[in-house]
Amino acid sequence: MYRTHYSSQITEELNGKKVKVAGWVNEVKDLGGIKFVWVKDREGIVQVTAPKKKVSPELFKLIPKLNTEDVIAVEGTVNFTPKAKLGFEILPDRIEVLSKAKTPLPLDPTGKVKAELDTRLDNRFMDLRKPEVMAIFKIRASAFRAVREFFHSEWFIEIHTPKIIATATEGGTELFPMKYFEKDAFLAQSPQLYKQMMMASGLDRVYEIAPIFRAEEHNTTRHLNEAWSIDAEMAFIESEEEVMALLERLIKHTVKYVIEHNEKELQILDFELEEPKLPFRRISYTKALEILADLGKEIPWGEDIDTEGEKMLGNYIKENYNEDLYFLYQYPSEAKPFYIMKYDEKPEISRSFDLEYRGVEITSGGQREHRVDVLVEQIREKGLNPANFEFYLKAFRYGMPPHGGFGLGAERLIKQMLNLGNIREVILFPRDRKRLTP
Ligand code: ATP
Ligand code: MG
Repeated sequence: MYRTHYSSQITEELNGKKVKVAGWVNEVKDLGGIKFVWVKDREGIVQVTAPKKKVSPELFKLIPKLNTEDVIAVEGTVNFTPKAKLGFEILPDRIEVLSKAKTPLPLDPTGKVKAELDTRLDNRFMDLRKPEVMAIFKIRASAFRAVREFFHSEWFIEIHTPKIIATATEGGTELFPMKYFEKDAFLAQSPQLYKQMMMASGLDRVYEIAPIFRAEEHNTTRHLNEAWSIDAEMAFIESEEEVMALLERLIKHTVKYVIEHNEKELQILDFELEEPKLPFRRISYTKALEILADLGKEIPWGEDIDTEGEKMLGNYIKENYNEDLYFLYQYPSEAKPFYIMKYDEKPEISRSFDLEYRGVEITSGGQREHRVDVLVEQIREKGLNPANFEFYLKAFRYGMPPHGGFGLGAERLIKQMLNLGNIREVILFPRDRKRLTP
């Protein structure tokens, strides 16, 4: 065993005790009669202090030969002393070099020399050695944990649906085609149809956390070609409001969980994360167009609110109400997919919503159309052929409860939560128009 403790686990009770730490050499200092090595591991840094009189001559000679980023294991005695920068040091009995680091390094893991995002992503393994990069992925892991915990507490069952599919969810142009033996297939852009089919199964409340694949046309700071989607679907709802209420509880729980569990990481990122207040403001699509018109941006009723419009609305909400999260809802039916329910009394408006976080969409959802005859009609209205959806429609013919749900982009959530500039910052190995490796 090379390690008994992570750096952060060395507390005062261990004073005078033997420990083993292991990690990457962060810095070496040679003051002649005393030599230092700082070793970093996942949780922080440990100072190893080697006074000439207290260590073996071999060990003393080894230290100046260490390069930054060499991998070493250190066995020694913990010594709490105010002289050490971190409050304690390790007086080593043994230092073992487990792996040497070649020089020069592909990027500066201390972050002092800034590297372009491309260089960082090409060398992601080393980029992650920067505490501020690792902090993002620790927060990401926490967020996923919070999401699972939340769904479990709300009686949701985790499901896993196929990622190789025969039919486009929404007819879409955003699909990656693939060969499936002698047939044509696609990578799934969403679990939409499958999670809805589960509403006819009696599982009742389901969620899935899985990748989605989209051949997005443009290279943007908020689109990936492979992203992780947090999907939920729930049966026996009376309106989309119940889905919105679930989603806002989920977001609040997740942000709160990160605040409570990632104090250190938020500090490394120098970011103050605030727990959102419920309920989130609800702004109808029509009202949003009025606000935008007042701000000097005209969008014809029925058209999508573009990126610029979204940003303007986000700023407006922030300035007027000091809120980062709000719902845009009651979109025109023509702007939403066939599976969204329309208001019976006002069919040009749909029971749909988007959740916006700091001016960027992070979720789309709504109540679904569960009446099969209406659903078939809506498929036709979108210019699609109901015959291609027979496997899906079948699930609506033998008892399908009213239901609704949402798809929440995990990377969008984390990017917007931490107010980062580029979605590529929050996924280990982004897949975009140019990146297929690493
Ligand atoms: P946008 O209009 O922002 O491209 P969308 O409306 O096409 O998104 P939906 O089909 O509504 O996306 O997908 C649900 C959620 O999945 C989005 O709100 C977003 O959080 C996430 N998402 C969709 N496409 C991507 C993508 N290419 N990269 C990252 N996340 C995505
Ligand atoms: Mg959307």
